[in-house]
Amino acid sequence: MKIQQDKIKMIISSLAITQDDEADCIDCYEELDVYAEMLKDGKDPDMVMPMIKQHLEVCKCCREELEGLLSALESID
Ligand SMILES: [Zn+2]
Repeated sequence: MKIQQDKIKMIISSLAITQDDEADCIDCYEELDVYAEMLKDGKDPDMVMPMIKQHLEVCKCCREELEGLLSALESID
């Protein structure tokens, strides 16, 4: 999955401001395909990746990314 250069800069600059233990969009994007596959397989990714779940609850763009991944996975089957 490629992230646009501008988006990366934007994310990195926002990271400098918010320094906490929560997953950021970069962490989230890295784990999102695994998360989506676990959901699709009927597993519980929230047990394994609680930080991602927490991030998805607050981040609309990562939720949309997850929805896109899920529909892509479904179209493969
Ligand atoms: Zn995000």
